[in-house]
Amino acid sequence: MSKASRKFKVPDELANVYDFANTLDLRRFVHNSVPHPQGDELTSPAALAAWLSERKLLPSGARITAPLLGEALELRSSLRACLQRDPDERGDRMVLRALNRAIEKFPLVAAVATDRTMVLSGARKDALSGLSVVVSELLRASDNRSLDRLKMCASDECRRVFYDRSKPGTRRWCVSALCGNREKTRAYRARMQGEA
Ligand SMILES: [Zn+2]
Repeated sequence: MSKASRKFKVPDELANVYDFANTLDLRRFVHNSVPHPQGDELTSPAALAAWLSERKLLPSGARITAPLLGEALELRSSLRACLQRDPDERGDRMVLRALNRAIEKFPLVAAVATDRTMVLSGARKDALSGLSVVVSELLRASDNRSLDRLKMCASDECRRVFYDRSKPGTRRWCVSALCGNREKTRAYRARMQGEA
């Protein structure tokens, strides 16, 4: 769980997926006359190591290499491509093929925990083993349908992944009062220009 996931009330069970997807920040809107700076938290193996370590997902002494960073970025881009679609449209073959190819590299194994319940955990034993938590969170969230509420903001200037807590689960913007209003204002202006 991170500060951002707590602030936006993302369920704990999806906190790592949420944080991981949002390591890429494409927001470029202007708010209170200040342009939002875009950013990427995973620009180097060391940056990925720091991100994992912050979440206690990096085995001690583990070293992230460039190929490992590549695997992580493949998982992130295919995950974001999937979340960008409406939940009903996430069955797209191309999108799923890319996501499955990335997920394949993070296999899960079943084991019995001390409380005798069965748990799935990552089978990898290398420096990237901690990232398997993203796949196990996806699996659990898909089981209880909460994954359908993890979405990407519909604003082209935002594209932040958010958790839709609305009752009907039909929210399109991460913050309706900001991204939603901006989009509506733009659509209104375009309509007016068209009519003029
Ligand atoms: Zn937004």
